[in-house]
Amino acid sequence: MNTKMITETLQTPVTGSYDVIVVGGGPAGCCAAIAAARNGAQTLIVERVGYLGGMLTGGMVGSSGIYTVSPTSLAYYASVREQLRTDPDRVQLIKGIPREIMRRLISSGGGLGYFGEVPAYVCVHVPSLMKLLLDMMEEAGVAVLFYAQGVQPIMDGDVVRGVIIQGKGGREALEAKVVVDATGDGDVAAAAGAEFEFGRPQDNEAINMTLMFTMGNIDMERYFEAEVTGQATWPPVSREEHFADMRAGHSYWFGTSSGLSERPEVPEHIRAELDNFTWSTNHSRGHIFACNSPIPDELYINVTEVFKKSGTSSWEISEAITIAYKEIELLAEMYKAAVPGFENAYIRQIAPLMGIRETRRITGDYIVTGDDVKQYRKFEDAIAGSGHPIDTSEDNKGRFDKLDPGAWFEVPYRSLLVKGREGILTAGRCISCDHEALGSIRPTATCMALGEAAGTAAAMAVSQQLTPRQLDGRQVAEKSGWDTSELTEAMIGQAEDDDSVMLQRES
Ligand SMILES: Cc1cc2nc3c(=O)[nH]c(=O)nc-3n(C[C@H](O)[C@H](O)[C@H](O)COP(=O)(O)OP(=O)(O)OC[C@H]3O[C@@H](n4cnc5c(N)ncnc54)[C@H](O)[C@@H]3O)c2cc1C
Repeated sequence: MNTKMITETLQTPVTGSYDVIVVGGGPAGCCAAIAAARNGAQTLIVERVGYLGGMLTGGMVGSSGIYTVSPTSLAYYASVREQLRTDPDRVQLIKGIPREIMRRLISSGGGLGYFGEVPAYVCVHVPSLMKLLLDMMEEAGVAVLFYAQGVQPIMDGDVVRGVIIQGKGGREALEAKVVVDATGDGDVAAAAGAEFEFGRPQDNEAINMTLMFTMGNIDMERYFEAEVTGQATWPPVSREEHFADMRAGHSYWFGTSSGLSERPEVPEHIRAELDNFTWSTNHSRGHIFACNSPIPDELYINVTEVFKKSGTSSWEISEAITIAYKEIELLAEMYKAAVPGFENAYIRQIAPLMGIRETRRITGDYIVTGDDVKQYRKFEDAIAGSGHPIDTSEDNKGRFDKLDPGAWFEVPYRSLLVKGREGILTAGRCISCDHEALGSIRPTATCMALGEAAGTAAAMAVSQQLTPRQLDGRQVAEKSGWDTSELTEAMIGQAEDDDSVMLQRES
């Protein structure tokens, strides 16, 4: 392609100097900043929008998970729930700062858990979480800079020495001893010339995007009675438990029947128009997949799907948003017409951020692979892990490969070190892993644990006057929140093949 180019000559004022700068205030970045500051580093977090939480707040993903070891199978998950009441450390894989955030959120009423504990998923009230994260920055002494996009690293050979931001006042250079790239997209590392991969290996197609929305004024009892059949939930609970959870205000995810758009009550023009938006097998127009919220008549609906758009192109994100808005309008009309309990429901909110699941994965000193996930591989320098299914999309279809009950795999510290670059760590969904492994790593609990480890390592590097690569990964592991010592053994080979869990997309 012949692209016309212009040359810019820029002079950028240096306006600040910090021990650690975290770029990106999503789940990973927030935990990185809190961890760095708590470990004594003078820390700044830089965020391009005006709130913290990334996809978990602005993307309205609805729930934060998963905190437990793999909860697959009805029988096993029943025992996990029992343990959550008696001895949560034995089943909670993700502890440390992520669990602390969620416990605080639940106890303040801003999140739904399970008898006050952090279960597989915590369903969140977005404004409460935004406020809590900001409070926690203040408590830890983290400086916060909103409306500032990290655009370039400050480079000294292969070493990152800070970041140039573009804010409302123009460009500023901010120096740092260590930069944590928690942008989700690896913006800073990529601009530093780091290698990266994008999407699946054969054609670089990334997991699909989803624009989340909430509907309010739903008659939940009527809806459940009419629509939720059998064991239509993830993680698996029986229908009776599901009703009990709903009434007790516990968090839950569920999917309801397929083929909604074929119901006779759906006006023909809606059915016809929805056909234009259905890239995957009858998914988006076919069912409701949702989680609850601390607001009792409300659901977070995770159904729209936009495939084959790049989350690192503003043009393509704009196209995706435009498509998804139209899809949401039609879906809401369809639910109102055809789903009992939705007769008087309305769209309460559409996520301000497009839901982007996958962009750059920055190549590190170690690349976590799908094989590591499936082999439940453990590492000496493990700093995080996950028991989440491999949740990707392939050829316009969801893929949701569950791990055995009680299983988990680990992520080594080396996956946060950027190959060929110093002074920089990655955290969150842009860490070094392949497309398949990302399907299990990308849920927020794991991203937060990765953030905590990156922030801890950054502060250790500053205080020990070492580079992040010179640190002993095992010491980082010890200082961060990663601790599997009390977990019960995995039940390898005992996954239940339960067809009634019909979900294609969970996170
Ligand atoms: C539709 C959808 C549903 C999902 N459902 C679930 C679920 O139910 N449970 C779950 O646990 N996970 C879910 N996920 C996955 C999860 O939300 C993400 O993988 C996770 O939020 C990644 O965290 P992160 O901090 O790495 O990145 P992000 O959440 O993407 O946060 C990145 C932050 O960096 C900021 N940023 C980006 N670039 C720059 C820059 N250059 N300069 C400054 N700031 C920048 C962004 O504004 C954002 O705040 C879902 C994801 C999607 C899209």
